[in-house]
Amino acid sequence: MAYSYEAPVSQSLFDRASVVTPGGVNSPVRAFRAVGGTPRFMVSGTGPYLTDADGREYVDLVCSWGPMIIGHAHPEVTAAVQDAVARGTSFGTPGEGEVALAEEIVARIEPVEQVRLVSSGTEATMSAIRLARGFTGRAKVVKFAGCYHGHVDALLAAAGSGVATFGLPDTPGVTGAQAGDTIVLPYNDLEAVRAAFAAQPGEIACVITEASPGNMGVVPPLDGFNAGLKEICAANGALYISDEVMTGFRTSKAGWYGIDGVRPDLMTFGKVMGGGFPAAAFGGRADVMAHLAPAGPVYQAGTLSGNPVATAAGLAQLRLLDDAAYAKVDAVSAELRSLVGDALTKEGVAHTVSAASNMFSVFFTDEPVRDYEGAKKQEAFRFTAFFHSMLEQGVYLPPSAFESWFVSTAHDAQALERVAAALPAAARAASEAVA
Ligand code: PLP
Repeated sequence: MAYSYEAPVSQSLFDRASVVTPGGVNSPVRAFRAVGGTPRFMVSGTGPYLTDADGREYVDLVCSWGPMIIGHAHPEVTAAVQDAVARGTSFGTPGEGEVALAEEIVARIEPVEQVRLVSSGTEATMSAIRLARGFTGRAKVVKFAGCYHGHVDALLAAAGSGVATFGLPDTPGVTGAQAGDTIVLPYNDLEAVRAAFAAQPGEIACVITEASPGNMGVVPPLDGFNAGLKEICAANGALYISDEVMTGFRTSKAGWYGIDGVRPDLMTFGKVMGGGFPAAAFGGRADVMAHLAPAGPVYQAGTLSGNPVATAAGLAQLRLLDDAAYAKVDAVSAELRSLVGDALTKEGVAHTVSAASNMFSVFFTDEPVRDYEGAKKQEAFRFTAFFHSMLEQGVYLPPSAFESWFVSTAHDAQALERVAAALPAAARAASEAVA
């Protein structure tokens, strides 16, 4: 299938959007600033495909940044949503759907004894941090450079270099007071964590980490890293918070916990559990969760928390995610990884395909990447050329070299063939790219 590269309808929508919305988008990466060009405005999605406003179809390797793990507009999820909508969209009271979703989460993820539903991953991590501080009576939070936990003020103190060391704000609007209790450390470095605890005895409430990071590209924890974090936290009376917003219900039935078995005190979830709707959660040890209002004194609330339509979508999607579904997503990911790796190798492009279960990303360097500093050393300009060639040929990749690619059970042989057909020219474009 031939694709013309102009996107006049998307461009005119982007022009309109840029008048009424800062940067023309409601979440920054969507604006294509890292790769340039016109962001595609999508009008529909079916299975592994997206169709843009110019009528062009793409194989979707973003899957809404993770949630669409069984593809777009899955008939069973659509039916559950339609059924829920017909019964009313929000009551502001408890309802059975949220009980059922909470039960599903607790049944799947053993360390989660109790769970509270919220509407975004950001809310989940923000609330988990507040709870950890309320539970321990301590102020300081350890996070890792390159890990993203949503746009929580305290967790945006993530820049590298000396700014990070002193917990200074990374974005205007975050005050020194908000970021001053955040300690930012290099990822995969247990010695740095031990040193931080030694330097501030009795002051650190929690360590929050992506269970397996996907926000600096995919950089899995080294063997023993998560277990080491847990051990250091336990030895120092701090809580170990595993952020599974991205990995939860995606990397296995029980998320990354299902893979490494390290038992967090608190966990956060989002994305897949909402089935494409705004639903997220945090949960963990019952004695810690008991500190949340109205059971305890730590306040947390939400008008749309446990929304009946979102919980119906999430529950329908989770119920379809059995062992066979994960085996399928893993197989699709493995095939795609080898197709991409082979195409780049054939063109002599230095690269590393870095995977964590079925999440993966391509770093344009042949040095192994174990932290944010390593990720930044890649030749990102090669990704830009690769991205645009794929887009032109009808494959929608994340518009940044520092993001995970996501696949679904709906990515069938035909979709993978389309990707395979696009790869040789994209690999060539990457090899010919100049900085
Ligand atoms: N935590 C992780 C690991 C994430 O990847 C994200 C979003 O990408 C968030 C938290 C924030 O979630 P949301 O965008 O739903 O606020």
